[in-house]
Amino acid sequence: MESCRSSFSLTSSNGAAVRAESSHRLAGEVHVIIGPMFAGKTTALLRRIKSESNSGRNVVMIKSSKDTRYAIDSVVTHDGAKFPCWALPDLSCFRKKFGEDAYNELDVIGVDEAQFFDDLYDFCCNVADKDGKIIVVAGLDGDYLRRSFGSVLDVIPLADTVTKLTARCELCGKRAFFTLRKTEETRTELIAGADVYMPVCRHHYANGQEVIQSSKNVMGSPTIRIGSNLEARTSLN
Ligand SMILES: [Zn+2]
Repeated sequence: MESCRSSFSLTSSNGAAVRAESSHRLAGEVHVIIGPMFAGKTTALLRRIKSESNSGRNVVMIKSSKDTRYAIDSVVTHDGAKFPCWALPDLSCFRKKFGEDAYNELDVIGVDEAQFFDDLYDFCCNVADKDGKIIVVAGLDGDYLRRSFGSVLDVIPLADTVTKLTARCELCGKRAFFTLRKTEETRTELIAGADVYMPVCRHHYANGQEVIQSSKNVMGSPTIRIGSNLEARTSLN
């Protein structure tokens, strides 16, 4: 009883500020949303960010400036949901561009098209571990050859949660885990949408040539599922 009291008085007199600061630091979280194109990753990310904003938290969205350079832009999903965002060439420049004071007030950071940011790992470490903020990352886990895409998989060991979303196979309607490039284009980086890429199930991925042939027949059919505008502009490496 006596020792309890003395330890309580110790922390309350001198350690109040330290405790408050350390509890803030411990509040950092990393959440990762992955999946193929047209799986609704941006929608899920926006839902999370809007929910945090509605709860009174200071939020910001960041996406790659691969095709909209250095401008403040919007993230747009296929259902028309919009959110203002920062389009940046890399994540390390964010703090400086956003402003130190504004950065310190931030609670939650959303990162879309995360596969394009090579400095994703360090950014997540700094934001969550050092600065005590929540970061929600959405991006492609794999490219059209199902190889690891960018640094997205590197941050999974840092994550509190990992959510793998699925799309609908464009050919059979089953759950789609992969993104197939319909054309024979082999450029390293090809920015395109539903005209070039489609979500497919394992069976139809494995039978890629068959799929490419079938897609030519399906092209133009109103049943083709067109994904979000944002993801339609996402390039696969
Ligand atoms: Zn299928």
